[in-house]
Amino acid sequence: MSLIQRYRGYLPVGPSTPIISLGEGATPLVAADRLRAVAGIPPRVLLKCEGTLPTGSFKDRGMTMAISKAVELGARGVMCASTGNTAASAAAYAAKADLPCVVLIPGGAIALGKLSQACTHGARVLAVKGNFDDCLPIVVELTEKGDFALVNSINPYRLQGQKTAAFEICDALGCAPTYHAIPVGNAGNISAYWMGFTEYREAGVTRTTPRMLGFQAAGAAPMVLGHPVARPETIATAIRIGNPANWEKARRAIDESGGRIDSVTDDEILEAYEMLARLEGVFCEPASAASVAGVLKLSRAGYFDGADDAVVTCTLTGHGLKDPDTAMKRAERPKEIEATSEAVLRAVGLGEKMEALTT
Ligand SMILES: *Cc1c(COP(=O)(O)O)cnc(C)c1O
Repeated sequence: MSLIQRYRGYLPVGPSTPIISLGEGATPLVAADRLRAVAGIPPRVLLKCEGTLPTGSFKDRGMTMAISKAVELGARGVMCASTGNTAASAAAYAAKADLPCVVLIPGGAIALGKLSQACTHGARVLAVKGNFDDCLPIVVELTEKGDFALVNSINPYRLQGQKTAAFEICDALGCAPTYHAIPVGNAGNISAYWMGFTEYREAGVTRTTPRMLGFQAAGAAPMVLGHPVARPETIATAIRIGNPANWEKARRAIDESGGRIDSVTDDEILEAYEMLARLEGVFCEPASAASVAGVLKLSRAGYFDGADDAVVTCTLTGHGLKDPDTAMKRAERPKEIEATSEAVLRAVGLGEKMEALTT
């Protein structure tokens, strides 16, 4: 069942809304017990793995809504600015809906997997000489004038779709988590989760709401600094944004929930990225690991002390395959060997019957 069908009662859709779906929704919530034990994190840690969505990031939750509404409202095409995943998702759902799609990306600053998706789905991809913050106003201007629908997260239907991730977490747990940790870029997703958590409480499905913990990359942390960042820099390109469009909404989510916004360095992001891959078998993209990097940072600072009965859920926003370059810059390259069993044993340092590690 598509997420629009499943959560129809909570979404602004009517009988005449066509549902443009690629089978999104129902992503896994995975216990991170090894990571928790290794890092000594007091609360239970659960990972909401959004990389399993159709195009490999949470953007699909918002895009199924944005594109369905664009079709319903008679748009002639769709347009977005993107650090990559919005482009990939818009291109795929636009293809499904038979709508032309134009995307503006910051030249040279988007991950290869995302670019390959947008191009293969047939979007008109334009590399702008500038960063994400330069692209978005152009899209706003052109969509205000024309027949193309804007499908960035300032499109309210995007956040409506994205709030369903909060519903799924509560449905899986049977209650709301104590804390929810999430990467923050343009700040739409944290706002969407807060909307979902509060709507479920208001509907009486849950009794509480979590504290929202938002994490920006240290080189792109306008909300932490309290002012826009002119030249945002981080290895986590999906959150390389210096002036988030949903700043105010996100601020409210953090304040109303009693949560916090903090920053994590690229080294902390990559540490969490590697721990997730090696301890939990979860391959996410660098920006996604910011949520877990933030939880590790707060845990070390004693933020969760005494919270052993608490549950912290972390959104892993996108799949690791999105950014193969970052992965292979860090990983050990395959060793080249002769095609013999001896060469294999020598290379891996295992005994004759491969029974034990000797190195
Ligand atoms: C879009 C994106 C983000 C940031 O989400 P915002 O809603 O812009 O804050 C984080 N991680 C990934 C992988 C993304 O694609």
